[in-house]
Amino acid sequence: MPITAIVGAQWGDEGKGKITDVLAQDADLVIRFQGGDNAGHTVVNDRGEFKLHLIPAGIFNPDAVNLIGPGTVVNLLTLVEELDMLEARGISTANVRVADRAHLVLPYHVMLDRLDERERGRRKLGTTGRGVGPAYADKVARHGLQAYEVRDERRFRERIARSVELKNRILEAYGEQPLDAGQLADDQLEAAARLGDRIVSALPLVEDFVSRDARVLLEGQLGAMRDLDWGIYPFVTSSNPLAGGASIGAGIPPRLITRVIGVVKAYSTAVGEGPFPTELHGPEADALRERAGEYGATTGRPRRVGWFDAVAARYAHRLNLFTDIAVTKLDVLDVHERIPIAVRYRLNGMETDDMPPTGLLEQAQPVYETAPGWCVATTSARSREALPRRALGYLDRVSTLVGAPISMIGVGPERKATILT
Ligand code: GDP
Repeated sequence: MPITAIVGAQWGDEGKGKITDVLAQDADLVIRFQGGDNAGHTVVNDRGEFKLHLIPAGIFNPDAVNLIGPGTVVNLLTLVEELDMLEARGISTANVRVADRAHLVLPYHVMLDRLDERERGRRKLGTTGRGVGPAYADKVARHGLQAYEVRDERRFRERIARSVELKNRILEAYGEQPLDAGQLADDQLEAAARLGDRIVSALPLVEDFVSRDARVLLEGQLGAMRDLDWGIYPFVTSSNPLAGGASIGAGIPPRLITRVIGVVKAYSTAVGEGPFPTELHGPEADALRERAGEYGATTGRPRRVGWFDAVAARYAHRLNLFTDIAVTKLDVLDVHERIPIAVRYRLNGMETDDMPPTGLLEQAQPVYETAPGWCVATTSARSREALPRRALGYLDRVSTLVGAPISMIGVGPERKATILT
């Protein structure tokens, strides 16, 4: 079995959690490689409906180890809540591991995330307010604390005291109440104690699985358009959701990743701010959003919705070189008689199929072609042959435009509503 990265090919929320859950039934190790608890992967399977934030979607396979990788940022307090939620619903979390090099998201990061958004005002980023950006900022600025540091209580308390002293100056400048370093450290240490021996050195663990030719999944969060380097900066996340980021964030040498699955929705959605060329507005958007249930799993915010943007998905393919793509939510389009697909952008009187940087993308107009809809329910289809001819035509067009073959088709939220082709 190859080592497989599962990455978002649009703006995020493509259904990576569901695809990971499907493939994790045959996996030995599942690793989240970037991001934090700002993720909201909704998984629907025989155990119920779950919203996962930091724990990999391999958690429903009791035999798989689920590693929160070194490239993630971890809020120990919310991680404990997530473990409790799963345990309360009968899902064992004994096989969850946290990389000891993962950085901690601390309460001041959460506060600074919200204050920073407030200061940005009209040009806010639309973050989930989980402190993920500020935690990565501290990591890059070399002020961060890593998970292993909880093991040495005295040193940890000293490190927290120094950090809180610095952050309190900023919080006070914003007119906020200063934080109590002692209390903050107590809370972190209490959560760390709950994690017990789940905080581990990631590389030996990964090497052990790889040496046994184990089946490994690398689960991404968000999508190419939110990549820190290649996305719609500054409306991006603070890490790299591209497959290139999977190598560093999981501790898997690049040559070992043999399969890269790009997950694309059959249309587009975006949470947060930033350019989104195919965005729909008004009643058409409301109808699509309602039908598709497009509300953020972490924030409950209504998602922005629009038609499939082949320029964006092909851009994701250019950056990831997908071996194959999984097209999710095909069923959502069952009711449309005609389905527009953006194939190029018009910009400054010229047409382009390249992805311009943010300021220019804001001015770009999508150039559409229109595919005929199928107007038949696809939710019960379990094979390619059971799909209407026009739905297959739409999928073929998507595959051609992106440049990669389709290996999976989603026709409903449940695990079983997945066609493997
Ligand atoms: P992720 O963050 O990429 O895992 O995506 P989200 O979980 O945020 O959003 C995907 C949403 O679509 C979730 O509510 C899933 O349950 C749902 N979903 C995934 N695949 C399908 C599908 O094929 N059809 C339908 N109708 N819903 C799907």
